[in-house]
Amino acid sequence: RKGTAIITGASSGLGLATAKALAETGKWHVIMACRDFLKASRAAKAAGMDKDSFTVVHLDLASLDSVRQFVKNVRQLEMPVDVVVCNAAVYQPTAKEPSYTADGFEMSVGVNHLGHFLLARELLSDLQSSDYPSKRLIIVGSITGNTNTLAGNVPPKANLGDLRGLAGGLNGIGGSAMIDGGEFDGAKAYKDSKVCNMLTMQEFHRRYHEETGVTFASLYPGCIATTGLFREHIPLFRLLFPPFQKYITKGYVSEEEAGKRLSQVVSDPSLTKSGVYWSWNKNSASFENQLSEEASDADKAKKLWEISEKLVGLA
Ligand code: NDP
Repeated sequence: RKGTAIITGASSGLGLATAKALAETGKWHVIMACRDFLKASRAAKAAGMDKDSFTVVHLDLASLDSVRQFVKNVRQLEMPVDVVVCNAAVYQPTAKEPSYTADGFEMSVGVNHLGHFLLARELLSDLQSSDYPSKRLIIVGSITGNTNTLAGNVPPKANLGDLRGLAGGLNGIGGSAMIDGGEFDGAKAYKDSKVCNMLTMQEFHRRYHEETGVTFASLYPGCIATTGLFREHIPLFRLLFPPFQKYITKGYVSEEEAGKRLSQVVSDPSLTKSGVYWSWNKNSASFENQLSEEASDADKAKKLWEISEKLVGLA
């Protein structure tokens, strides 16, 4: 049978390119988990995806109710859940003030981490009950949250501190909108959320890999400088960033190539190892990359897991 992969944020950029790459193999049905139903169906059509190769299901990660409803809706489809890809993200580098999710969490961490945390926890039992030979939960990471790299050292650097802001509810009301309890900084909030993504993947691996047989993985697909992720950046940045990445850092990858990379992590028989953060070298060959000290801190991962459980109502 075909595999079924759920991809969040499949309406543009990396998520769409991955959905397309998987659909084109003829071996996958993609559940596009998107906040804008019409945009997602149009994007799939414009990408040339066969109408039988995907199903759009509404998901707004900025609302925990929407996440719970999404899980119910997916179960009603009566399709197996073989792979889940947590890909959607918001990035608000120029925001002066924080914005908040329906549940009152700062938006970047609320969507990128907490929404996905609840989604992944809820869908774990569905993954477990699938009879697919290689079941996978993939959380898209980033180099920018990884301070052992050059890109990860561009200020403001990711730093979760002792997680006091997160423990305080990340709501800015009498507390802080930042995980470390500091002043709001949109670019840092995004990087922090990506560290959370990488820590969450490892904590899933430690807690559930043996018991469930599910492969847990993260990745850095390369710098896809052309995606909508940079839509809120200043115009000059948007003009100069793609050529800068192409010719200076040489970290640039096209959306198509990045989509192929993520689709390998979804389906390649050789990428079944769990607990791995995948990257690609200049020849587009995958390798197991090292995470920064903070992004591989097991104590922090456990603490993050426990606080996140409370915030999303699982504990
Ligand atoms: P895009 O902005 O193109 O895609 C992000 C997707 O997330 C969009 O489909 C967007 O939906 C969706 N999304 C945003 N908010 C929500 C929400 N509340 N609920 C549901 N979906 C939402 O960016 P990219 O493709 O670049 O980013 C994809 C992933 O790749 C992210 O995890 C990012 O961190 C990661 N990444 C990107 C890099 C890059 O260079 N671009 C580098 C490394 C990692 P909509 O279409 O409705 O706006």
